Amino acid sequence: MDFASDNSVGVSAEILAAVAAANVGAAHAYGEDAWTAKALARLDEIFERRTASFLLTTGTAANALALAALTPPYGAVFCHESAHVMEDECGAPEFFTAGAKLVGIEGRQGKITPAALRATLGAFPRGRVTQVQPAALSLSQATECGTLYTCAEIAELTSIAHEVGVAVHMDGARFANALVAQNCTPAEMSWKAGIDVLSFGATKNGALACEAVIFFDPAQADNFVYRRKRGGHTLSKGRFLGAQMAAYLEADLWLENASKANAHAAKLVAGLTKVPGIRLVWPTEANEIFVLMPRGIDRALQAAGAHYYEWAFHAIDRAQVQPREDDVFIRLVTSFATDPAAIAEFVAIAQAAAATP
Ligand SMILES: *Cc1c(COP(=O)(O)O)cnc(C)c1O
Repeated sequence: MDFASDNSVGVSAEILAAVAAANVGAAHAYGEDAWTAKALARLDEIFERRTASFLLTTGTAANALALAALTPPYGAVFCHESAHVMEDECGAPEFFTAGAKLVGIEGRQGKITPAALRATLGAFPRGRVTQVQPAALSLSQATECGTLYTCAEIAELTSIAHEVGVAVHMDGARFANALVAQNCTPAEMSWKAGIDVLSFGATKNGALACEAVIFFDPAQADNFVYRRKRGGHTLSKGRFLGAQMAAYLEADLWLENASKANAHAAKLVAGLTKVPGIRLVWPTEANEIFVLMPRGIDRALQAAGAHYYEWAFHAIDRAQVQPREDDVFIRLVTSFATDPAAIAEFVAIAQAAAATP
């Protein structure tokens, strides 16, 4: 019963097999290989556009280096106050941008609203010498609360940003989960909605260690090869990144994996919300579930060996849901590799514990 994260599971068999298959003979180093060429060509196909795409091994590097391409050191990078770039990357965005300032924006359910974005941009006018200059907006899709922006919502935010010359980055660590949950194409959820640069995740959805930074305007990617190399993310045996991404995109494995992960989450939510005392904190729109759970149920689950993380209470919007005295706030994440039997067992234990006085 492992619901700790979508990176606590292993690698899709197809991707591991592709890595092994690439382990034959010699190939050019540093990404000048046939596997990488195939992966990049497939990304162009999927996004219906000639992109400038780059493979690297972590989402943190993808985000930090992508943002570095969009902002000067004296720039402001706007993001949700609980964004991964803000809270979970150990200052990598500040480091790789050579000191740009991250500016957090409040918003319910992990989402930035047009009004909040306008207000924040208004507080950072261009040309005020005492302040950092507006440079980039970063949106997480899916968000850190497991919610989604619709394509129309993305388009509205990007147009507000573009009006004042602010470029838009999308942290798509869970891009596939967000995509399959909505009725739109990869192009519609990215560049057609005004996204300039996308961190396209693969690791959490089945790869071993592979993410792509995708520039929809190749002119913005001018210096990225140097940034990636300087950042230590240009793999000498780059073919193994190419093999992972090519296999991830082959025969729609990425969409299939994400659909499985989301379906597992929906099943877990359906079971848990029937258990007395368990309450959803945010709607589950992809593969992350946030619930308040009476401590007795939490204890029973822990005792049975279930694995998941407690989350910070301060993120809860108390106008929406009031935590009770003995509530535990937890996050559960499902993946392509979640065992359906583990979902059933988890729900059964919660149900039994709820029925025990
Ligand atoms: C996991 C995750 C990342 C990438 O994290 P790494 O551990 O550096 O690969 C980026 N953004 C979000 C929202 C994530 O959940």
